[in-house]
Amino acid sequence: MAVYKIKTLNNNNRMSTQELLQTINKKLEEGITNFEIEACGQHDIGGASWSKDGKPLKFTVTNPGQRVGAMAMNGTTIIVEGSAPADVGWLNSGGEIIVKGDGGDTSAHCSAGGKIYIGGRVGTRSGALMKHDPRFEPPEFWVLKNTGSFSFEFMSGGIAVICGYDCEDIPSVLGNRSCVGMVGGTVYVRGPVEGLANCVEKVKLDKFDKDFLKSGMEPFLEKVGRVELKDELLDFSNWAKIVPLPKELKEKKISVKEFKETEWFPEGLFGDLVEDNGEVYELAQTGDGRLRKPYWDEKQCVACDLCLSNCPQRAIVKEDKTYKSIDDKCIGCGICSAVCPREAWRMV
Ligand code: SF4
Ligand code: SF4
Repeated sequence: MAVYKIKTLNNNNRMSTQELLQTINKKLEEGITNFEIEACGQHDIGGASWSKDGKPLKFTVTNPGQRVGAMAMNGTTIIVEGSAPADVGWLNSGGEIIVKGDGGDTSAHCSAGGKIYIGGRVGTRSGALMKHDPRFEPPEFWVLKNTGSFSFEFMSGGIAVICGYDCEDIPSVLGNRSCVGMVGGTVYVRGPVEGLANCVEKVKLDKFDKDFLKSGMEPFLEKVGRVELKDELLDFSNWAKIVPLPKELKEKKISVKEFKETEWFPEGLFGDLVEDNGEVYELAQTGDGRLRKPYWDEKQCVACDLCLSNCPQRAIVKEDKTYKSIDDKCIGCGICSAVCPREAWRMV
C-alpha cells in the first residue's frame, strides 16, 4: 500500500491543523489510505476521516496535538510513535489507536467503541464517560502503567485495563477519586488503588476475567512494543476488577447538594474561587443567577423601542429617555442586545 508522507514543518513554516486535515481529505479522495505524518502539534489527526470506498485507513504519526484519533471510525488504525497530549481517542467510535509513549489527560474520554492502547501512563480524567452501545462491541482502553486522578468518572460501559507496570512508588495506580459516579463497565487494575468512590467495589477476578486478560494482553503488548512483560503482567496475584455496586446497594437516593459535598469533591471543586451554596438553579434564572446581564449605553441609544417590544420578559422599562432592565425579571437572554440597531445593550 502506497504511503503518503506529510511533513508539517518546512523551513520554519508550520502547516496549520486546517491545512493538514484538508490535505489528508484531498488525498483520501484520490484513494490514498496510508499516511505517515510528521506533525508539530496539529489537532484531530486520523479521527473523523474515511475512504469513500470503505477501505481501511492507517495513520502513523509523530508529535500530534490534542485529540489524536478523536471520533475515529471502525477500520482506522492510528499509531503514535512516542507520546500524545490530551484527548487521545476522544469519542473513539471504532478505531484502533496505539500510543507507544504516554497519553495525556482525558485519554479515551467518552470512548464508545474500538480499542485504545497506551504504552505508558495517562493523565487525569482518563476513561471518564466511557460508554457501550450494546449493538456494538464494547470499547477497550489498555494502559501499561497508571492513570491520573478522577479517572473513569461517570463511566457507564466498556472495559479498561490498567496494568500498573513501573508503579512501585505510586500509592494508587488510578490516582485519587477514581470511578466517581461510575454506573457501568469494568476497570481491571493491577496494583494499589486509593480513594476509590463508594459507588463501586473492588473484587477478585473470576475465570471469565482472567480469560479476557489472557487473550488481550499479548496483542496489547505487541502493539506497544513491550511483549517481554507478558508473563509478569499475567501473574494474577495483584489484579482486581472495579465494578459498580449492585443496584440494590445504591437504592439510597441523595440530593445533588449532598452528592457534591460527599461524593464529588468533599472540599468543594471550586471552593477557593466561588462560594457554592449547593443550590441547583432552574434553566433560566433571573437576578444573580443569570449568566449575563444587559447594560444600556445612553450615548448609543436612538430610542427606537425595539428592545422594549422584543424583550420576552417585559423586563425593560423606559423612564423619560432612560431604558432600564429590571434584574428580577430579566433572564439574560440577550435578545435586547441582538435586536438593538445601535449596540446600545451590552451583555456582560
Ligand atoms: S436580556 Fe432578555 S430578558 Fe433581559 S432585558 Fe434583555 S431581552 Fe429582556
Ligand atoms: S433597541 Fe437599542 S436603540 Fe432602540 S431603544 Fe433599545 S437600546 Fe435604544
